[in-house]
Amino acid sequence: MPTLAVAGAYLHNKTVVEELLRRRLPDWSIVRPGDAGAREACVAVCWGQPHDTWQQLPDVRMVHSIGAGVDGLVRDPGLPDVPICRVIDQAQAQRLTEYVLWGTLTYHRGFDIAARNQRALLWQRPANRAASEVVVGVMGLGEIGAHMAKTLAAHGYSVRGWSRSARSLEGIETFAGAEGLGAFLDGVEVLICVLPLTDETEGILSRDLFNRLTPGAKLIHVGRGPHFVEADVLEALESGQLGGVLVDVFPVEPLPADNALWRHPLVMVTPHMAAVMPMPDVVSQIAENCERLLAGEPLLRTVERASGY
Ligand code: NAP
Repeated sequence: MPTLAVAGAYLHNKTVVEELLRRRLPDWSIVRPGDAGAREACVAVCWGQPHDTWQQLPDVRMVHSIGAGVDGLVRDPGLPDVPICRVIDQAQAQRLTEYVLWGTLTYHRGFDIAARNQRALLWQRPANRAASEVVVGVMGLGEIGAHMAKTLAAHGYSVRGWSRSARSLEGIETFAGAEGLGAFLDGVEVLICVLPLTDETEGILSRDLFNRLTPGAKLIHVGRGPHFVEADVLEALESGQLGGVLVDVFPVEPLPADNALWRHPLVMVTPHMAAVMPMPDVVSQIAENCERLLAGEPLLRTVERASGY
């Protein structure tokens, strides 16, 4: 009987995942590292796996992320040299898009200002501009970012996108690589980050980058916590270079109670809620790759390890 091990320190719904896997793969033994028989596991399903996971799973032939991001795998020094697969889910792209659309509308129409004014009993209309006058920049044009960019453009915004390699998207002005970053940022009023976390992108949301945006620009961040340099974000808010931040992901989650972002009047903190994937869909994608592994067929949604995403 083939064996699959579920390894994840941050996997709150581990039991649910295991139960769904048992139903979808009735001929498989579903275990956790350390369980009897786990050393025979040919598949590891992971999210925030402890570093000693791999010593306990010496026969793994495929590692499957339970989410879209694979930074927790690719950056794990003990990860064996086997294919890595991830989940790509349209429903997730849609939910993340809803989140950034809400943020963009909030900043464009000044709902954030109106909410602050209400608390001060202040009757004052924010500026009312056409969506086409607002330049929105999307960092990352992958499965999720491309969906966001197209949806924002369909809502009338002037959308730009930035990726590592050159991309072409109808109705979107695109830029690529370090050499395209300056032109991409120049004039952006709402910056959305949906990049994967890699050695190249860690710390990218920093003072240098903020200084290239239109003064008072807004940041919507749904990538990964280590993309942003918190001190630089606070400094940019203080100087007015950033006029507002909507952030869903943090280097330490839950965000500690003493973190300054919680109480900053120009910051909206959300608890990594931009997208929660439907677990049955996730398990279905994992199961499909398990079956392919046994049948010797090409795996789907594999990650290019060298690029880090
Ligand atoms: P993806 O399909 O792998 O796309 C990644 C995009 O980022 C690609 O366009 C890629 O460029 C670009 N990119 C990567 N490194 C870059 C660099 N150094 N410079 C410029 N562009 C770079 O990933 P995805 O499925 O869209 O997911 C993106 C990220 O969203 C995930 O890794 C995760 O961090 C985050 N996420 C967050 C949540 C949440 O709930 N907040 C949920 C899901 C995902 P190329 O097109 O040239 O490859």
